[in-house]
Amino acid sequence: MNGPAVSAVLFDLDDTLYPQSSFLAGAFDAVAEEAGRLGLERGRFRRALDEALLEGSDKGNTIDRALAAAGAPGADATVLVKVFQDFVPARLDPYPGVRAALAELGRHVPLGLVTDGHVPGQRAKLEATGLGPHFEVVVFSDEIGRRYRKPHPAGVAAALERLGVPPLEAVLVGDRPDKDVAVALRLEMRAVRVRTGEHAASPDLPGTFASVGTVAAAAALLLPLVSRAD
Ligand SMILES: [Mg+2]
Repeated sequence: MNGPAVSAVLFDLDDTLYPQSSFLAGAFDAVAEEAGRLGLERGRFRRALDEALLEGSDKGNTIDRALAAAGAPGADATVLVKVFQDFVPARLDPYPGVRAALAELGRHVPLGLVTDGHVPGQRAKLEATGLGPHFEVVVFSDEIGRRYRKPHPAGVAAALERLGVPPLEAVLVGDRPDKDVAVALRLEMRAVRVRTGEHAASPDLPGTFASVGTVAAAAALLLPLVSRAD
C-alpha cells in the first residue's frame, strides 16, 4: 500500500541532507580558537568538545561540559556559546546524490524544508549547503518557538499549509525516528527515514513508510509516487 499520490516532499536538514558532524567540526574549531584567546589550552579544550559531543549532540551544555572536562569548570561559557551560535560555515557538502535527488524530485512536486535549531545558525547551514533554491518553502521551527521543534507538528503543518498540500498527500524525509518520523506519524503523513548521521543506528518506529540508507534512495523510492504532471 503506497497511499495517495505524493504532492509534496518535505525534508529535514541536519544529518539528512548533509552530515552535521562537518558543521560541528568547524564550529568547535572556532570555539576552541576563542577559548585559546581566553587563556585555555586550545588543543585540550578542542578534544574535550569532541568528547562531550560523544554523549550526544542533543544533550545540551556541550561547551559547559567541555570546560569542566578541560579543567576550567568555573569559566564563563557565555562568550564561547556565542561563538558557536554565530559560527557561519563557508561550505557544507551535502551527502552524495542529494543534489541530484532534490533536482529530480523537484521537477515533479514542490519540496519543502523544516528544520529545528537556532534560526541564524540553521539559515547559515542551509546557505552553506547551496541547497536552498530547491525548496519552495523553508520553515525554521524556532521562528514559531523553540517548543515547536519536531516532533511538535507546528513547523511541518505550517510548511504544508504554505504549499497547499494536505498531510495525506505529503511525505517527510528525515534521519530521526523520534523527531522526523514521529511528527509525520502525528500528522498522518508518510515518513521516509534515512539512516545517515548521528542517529543512523536508532531503531525504526512502527508505521515508518520506508527506511532507506540515503536521500538518493528515498528519491528513487518516491519518484514513482509523485503526482505532478511533466
Ligand atoms: Mg536531522
